Amino acid sequence: MKLAFIGLGAMGFPMARHLTKQHEVTVWNRTSEKAERHAREHGSRLAKDLEECAAADVILTMLPTSSEVDQIVDQLLPHLRRGTLWIDATSGDPNVSRKTAARLAEKGVAFVDAPVTGATVGAENATLTIMVGGSKEDFARAEPILRICGKTIIHAGPTGAGHAIKVLTNSIMGATVWITSECLLLAKQYGIDLKTAFAITNAGSGRSNASENLLPMRLLEGKWPLIFKLVHHDKDIRIAASISHQQHASTPMLALTQSLFSAALHQLGDQADYIEVAKIIAAMNGTKWQ
Ligand code: NDP
Repeated sequence: MKLAFIGLGAMGFPMARHLTKQHEVTVWNRTSEKAERHAREHGSRLAKDLEECAAADVILTMLPTSSEVDQIVDQLLPHLRRGTLWIDATSGDPNVSRKTAARLAEKGVAFVDAPVTGATVGAENATLTIMVGGSKEDFARAEPILRICGKTIIHAGPTGAGHAIKVLTNSIMGATVWITSECLLLAKQYGIDLKTAFAITNAGSGRSNASENLLPMRLLEGKWPLIFKLVHHDKDIRIAASISHQQHASTPMLALTQSLFSAALHQLGDQADYIEVAKIIAAMNGTKWQ
């Protein structure tokens, strides 16, 4: 099958690499050097221009937001062929993806939203969890391709459902990172050794992915790798808050989480990792983790 992969960032680059093992993959990236490197190192085909991607049977996008996806759709729309499947792996906005799906449907092109979770390590190791929004038929077409990049592929519901559940689970993670950091800092200020506080938390009911995997390296060892940009995380929580608003739901915790992460983004900037919010929590208390 002929695939086209658009957006070779931290996630897209390794995902496209896995796909080249089973399919002919044409790659395009805004900064062309990355696409050239992909073709050179992983046997993908370098698209001479973006329009060439429209000739593929399946087009995959992995871009920052739905807005960039829409820009690409605008450019490719006149060139698309009936029967093509568009898989958008971006963590996007379900409202926008439903509109995008409708625009593509007019051209006879199917669309599924298929955002991923599992971080860059999951993309590198093809162990991502992928949640898919779309019809059962389109999910069935997308699933074997997504299975090459991921381990757990779940049909979440109709178009937009993948994007919706993705931003909701990321909001859970954001709130968990924040409260865990606050409470562990408090434990430290109370005089409990931080390593001991982690050990007790992880042996008890406060245990989470944040306490087990994300925070120990940073708070105990002072290693702050960039694994997921705060700017992307903030975008996800803002989309979750907009879903709540649309549903006239009462979600005060989500509203607070959104407001905390937006403030953190202003302070830490576009290139910060989202776990660096823990630095702000320490600074707010006039201290540092190390
Ligand atoms: P990156 O910032 O690493 O990559 C973004 C990609 O989008 C790059 O290829 C970039 O091109 C391209 N791009 C940006 N703006 C435009 C534009 N205007 N037109 C065309 N291409 C553009 O992001 P990630 O790979 O980390 O994230 C991609 C998506 O995956 C996001 O929605 C994110 O929320 C989600 N995600 C990320 C995870 C992570 O751990 N990083 C985990 C799970 C989901 P260029 O090379 O030219 O900059």
